[in-house]
Formats: sequence, structure tokens, C-alpha cells
Amino acid sequence: MNVLFASSEVFPFSKTGGLADIASFLPKALNKIGHNVITVTPYYPSIAKYHNDLVYLGTKTIYFGLDNTKVNYYELSDGDNKIIFVQNQHYFERDFFYGYEDDDIRFMVFSYAVLELVDILKDIPQIIHVNDWQSATIPFLLDRHYRYREKYQYIHTLLTIHNLQYQGSFGLNSSRLFNVEFDYTYVHFNSVNYLKTGIETATKINTVSPNYRNEIMTEQFGFTLDGALRKRESDLSGILNGIDLEVFDPEKDPSIIKNYTSRNLKLGKFTNKKELMKNFDIKVTKEQPLISYIGRLAVQKGINLMKEVLEDVINNSNAVFMFLGSGDEEYQNYFQYLRNKYPAKVAYYQGYNEDLAHKIYAASDIFLMPSEFEPCGLGQMISMRYGTIPIVREVGGLKDSVVPYNKYNNTGTGFSFYDQNKDVFKDKIFEAINLFNNEPRKWSELIRRALNENFGLERMAKEYSNLYKKIIGGK
Ligand code: ADP
Repeated sequence: MNVLFASSEVFPFSKTGGLADIASFLPKALNKIGHNVITVTPYYPSIAKYHNDLVYLGTKTIYFGLDNTKVNYYELSDGDNKIIFVQNQHYFERDFFYGYEDDDIRFMVFSYAVLELVDILKDIPQIIHVNDWQSATIPFLLDRHYRYREKYQYIHTLLTIHNLQYQGSFGLNSSRLFNVEFDYTYVHFNSVNYLKTGIETATKINTVSPNYRNEIMTEQFGFTLDGALRKRESDLSGILNGIDLEVFDPEKDPSIIKNYTSRNLKLGKFTNKKELMKNFDIKVTKEQPLISYIGRLAVQKGINLMKEVLEDVINNSNAVFMFLGSGDEEYQNYFQYLRNKYPAKVAYYQGYNEDLAHKIYAASDIFLMPSEFEPCGLGQMISMRYGTIPIVREVGGLKDSVVPYNKYNNTGTGFSFYDQNKDVFKDKIFEAINLFNNEPRKWSELIRRALNENFGLERMAKEYSNLYKKIIGGK
């Protein structure tokens, strides 16, 4: 099946979050099972270092409102996998990916550019798979401006929502960019809303876990789009993301100091833990569990709840701590405060650091993810792959991927809770620490069950493949 996969970020070329990982892994996994998926993404400054390997494909002029601009297409091939970069210096070659006043124009240019690309591709895509608000206007533009052309007549669309919070909401003035008479399809609460445009017009919609799929149709998790989503309920599905089991593999991971398997996990973890914490001048013994968090420092991630409990845990347990992330200044200051106040127990690295993330996943015993909401979450899956036990809030994909520990029948793969209450969260952390400290056998069994989970890409690719077939078949 020919699919054009549009994403505003693709690892390793550009990344702010989980979308980049999926945009990198999913097309590759689909190509492996016989599909022909071509990825298309903007040419950011970070692409320049690959420039000599790129092949120029063509140039198109994009018209939007009363303006126009030219885009160039460059292709990078790696075996069966092809990625096409949309180059326009003015709109995409900037210091950051998002956050500019003209983001409405920038990603409208990208969306038109994806549609124009179809015209120069050898194989006409049967599906254009769009992701999040940055490419969510494509189904609308396709219907309004391209259908009459033969090549575009039968193209279907799939919109994947990776995070409903970010919607591409702009003033009504942005409506000019659609090049149509004023239309309520793209209007939401007196604003132009790119994601809502996609929700109304894509052939099918999916999100990144079955549980989040149900949640987003409720007021609590719907970010005001629950009504629009409920209207599309029969076209809305949930597919749990996967992780690349080769990139995240404690047995072969080149980033970690001591590779390990389930057989020498205890020693492997301890060696990694000792070496990791040495960098922060923290001494650890075999008896001390390492509790960690890696991720954006944003409200979504439940950092407020962490703030309510962490000092208590630091003061009343034998655990040591490692935090990696960047984001809201208030949270950055908080973790720096913990580091300063408890230098013998708390390590903190502010920033984005892939290599350090691997080291932490491998070294940790317990991983915190008390998110307020979580479309899928990759951190908990990566943790389990490294035999690190997650403590998660039972929302979104966290609920779909972590089976709560049950001490009576000795089942489960992690710890979970629902109430956003500090005592409930703290109890879970202490339950985990106590099991680590006092029930080594049960702890090992818990780790073994976590390691046995399979969050690989094959399952995810198969589910997308089935969804594509359904779309083509008109079901
Ligand atoms: P989100 O997409 O909401 O940011 P996910 O859990 O879905 O959260 O994915 C985040 C991914 O980014 C994970 O692979 C995580 O390990 C990685 N990550 C997040 N913050 C950092 C950081 N500061 N340094 C390294 N990796 C990070």
C-alpha cells in the first residue's frame, strides 16, 4: 500500500516528544511488512548536516491567502525507507520547531506542500497519514482544492492524534489561509482550530492508545474537542504505540556501562547505578533503590503531584533519585532545589540528553510517571524493557500498558493509582520501595513479568496496517 506519512517532527532529524519517535519507527516498521510508506517533514536547520546525501526532487509554489512562497523537496533514502524534506528557508529554518507568531502560516505551508508533493511522486498515495495539528488541515485542503485532479480523486486520509492538548488554535484572521469562503469546519469557539479541522474531515481518526481513545470523548480529557470527537466515534480508534526493541535493549545498548540480560540484571543494574550516580558525587550501595523521572517538565506529567510527595520520600526512605528533563521554569527550579538541598541523594540534569536517558533507564529500579493525562507514554514502556518498575497514574496509555501489582496473587508489571492525591501516590512509592527492600524474590518476579511484556513495533505496525486496509476498503 502506498502511504504518505506527514509529520512535523521525525527522530533523529527533529524531536520535541513522542511524535518524533513514532514518525521514525512506524513508517520503517510498516515498510518492513511490505508497505510503501514515504515520510514527509519540514527541512529544519538540523537537516543541513545531511544535505550532501539528499536528492533534489522538485520545486512547487504554495498559494495561501494573498501570499505565495516556493518550497523545494529533497529526498533521503535509506534502503526501503524514504524521507522527503520540505525546504523553505523563511518558514522552517529557524532556531525552534514551534512557538512563532506565524505558526499558522508555517504549518499551512507545510500542509499544502504535502499535497503538492503528490503531484511529483512516482506512486500516488492511497492514504495520506497526517499527525497532530501541524498537518491536520490536509484532509480539508484535499477535499476543497485537490479532489478535482485525477491523481487526488481517491486519496483517503488518516489523522493520528498524539496529544489532544495541542490543537493549533489561531485567531479568525488565519481563516484566509484555507483559500475558501468562510467555513465553520475550521472554526472552534471563535478561533481557527487546525486539529478540529482534521477531526471533522479525515476519513478515519485514531489516537495512540485504546484508553486515551475513550477518554478524549469525555469532558474531563477532551480539551473542548470531546463533542467533535464523539460525533466521529465510529471512525475513531486507539492503537497503542510501540518502542524500538533494538534501540532500547539492555543487552546491546551502547550507551550503558554494563549490558545485562534477565540473568544478570541485578549486577547489571547495580553497576550502572553506581557509575551513573558517581557522576553526581552520590555513593550508592546495593541496598538502595534508584527512583527516577525522565521527561518534559510540564503540568501534563504530574510534576505538581511529585512536588507534594518527593521530599517526604527523600527524607523517609533509603532511596536515591535521578531526574532528567527540561521545561517549565518553576519545575526546573524545583528539581534544582532538590539537588541543592539533598546533594547526597538527588541527582538532576537539566536538558535533553538521549545518551543519559538510556543510562538512567538501565540504572533505575523505579520510574515515576504520575501524569495528569497521557495519550500513550513511552517512558513506562522503555522502563519495563530495562527491568525498571514504573509507578503510573491509571490514565491514557499508562493504564493500557502497566498491569497493577497484586501482592495477593503475585501478578502485575508495575504500580498504579488513579486519585490525584499525595497520600495515594506516596503509598504507592513506599509500597514499591518496601518490596524492593524486603521482598527481593517478589521484586525479581515483578521485574521478570515487566521484562516479558512486548511493546515492540511489529504489533503496532500490524494494527496500523489493518486500519489502512479498513480505510481503503471503505469500512
Ligand atoms: P511526550 O511525547 O509527552 O513528551 P512520551 O513518554 O510519549 O512523552 O515520550 C517522551 C520520549 O522522550 C521518551 O522516549 C523519553 O525517554 C524521551 N525524553 C523526554 N525528555 C527527555 C530528556 N530530557 N532527555 C532525553 N530523553 C527524553
